[in-house]
Amino acid sequence: MNNYLSCVASFSDKDLLSEVSRLTTGEREATARLIASLAELDARRLYLGEGCSSLFTYCTQVLHLSEHAAYGRIEAARVARRFPLILGLLAEGSLNLTTVSLLAAHLTVENHQELLDAARHKSKRDVEHLIARLRPQPDAAAAVRKLPSPKTPQVPPLSGNMLPDVAPPSAASTVPRGSRPVIAPLAPERYKVQFTVSRETYDKLRRAQDLLRHTIANGDPAVVFDRALTLLLDALSKTKLAATDHPRAGRTLSPASRHIPAGVKRQVWKRDEGRCAFVGTNGRCKETAFLEYHHVVPYAAGGEAVVENVELRCRAHNAYEAEQYFGAPLFVREDARPMFWNERTRSGPS
Ligand SMILES: [Zn+2]
Repeated sequence: MNNYLSCVASFSDKDLLSEVSRLTTGEREATARLIASLAELDARRLYLGEGCSSLFTYCTQVLHLSEHAAYGRIEAARVARRFPLILGLLAEGSLNLTTVSLLAAHLTVENHQELLDAARHKSKRDVEHLIARLRPQPDAAAAVRKLPSPKTPQVPPLSGNMLPDVAPPSAASTVPRGSRPVIAPLAPERYKVQFTVSRETYDKLRRAQDLLRHTIANGDPAVVFDRALTLLLDALSKTKLAATDHPRAGRTLSPASRHIPAGVKRQVWKRDEGRCAFVGTNGRCKETAFLEYHHVVPYAAGGEAVVENVELRCRAHNAYEAEQYFGAPLFVREDARPMFWNERTRSGPS
């Protein structure tokens, strides 16, 4: 393996990309074959003769899979026995172990074809939405609760169906209950949001509930949360996106200035739909966080701060393009950045 590391170091960029793609395909096919074999081993209960009381014990103690990896593979093996077309979907990369695991409890003879098809190439979040549409859950009751201090870790309940002989992944058992935020779709248009807050945040919530009592009589935290987020988004769009209800005519800034006027920022944000506009060989970047305003023709090369020359970039692509243009990677302190450095969306309008 050490030799292989020095071997890949000598690859061209193009060869390295195709090597990784080839290996990923191989890994998927190997995983699908492993799952098919585990399903058969499970049916024959061969783990018993190997001295293990369960397939899970066999996978962790004999095959040395992590508990998480064993759990996912066994769940996939059992559902693939009922619906073998899952194996092909795993092998071709249309589904992955996470999405199979999410779907496992919801597949039936009647719906599996349609549901598996709908889940192809979908993210975990998309599949959670699919399931929420299929099996809408009632709204979660609003609750503000004092939790015990997190001195003694407790095992949180596992989501999804538990296999009878599979222990919960131990990683979860070290996480105190309530410390993991939850944002989960319950039904179409309905979400459960759960998180733990500090004493200060709790006091703020209580004060907000009291002050809003005349309009939100029952102090519903979901309604207070929505009000707070509306105000936050409003404030953020004013400072980050330079959005305003009353755009000023704009000071007469020279287009040759490095500063990007608020009006240009507004138009660029709208045109690029608040998303990185970098287009690579596999299509446009999907990033919507850490966005920066990018001079297409760099400021240092005479590029002007006008709508036609400014696009949104995520932080990674902004740095990548600067590196492509100027050569050396730019690891520069914020206050020492050269004049061509692009202005960030987080800088306020002026
Ligand atoms: Zn990007």
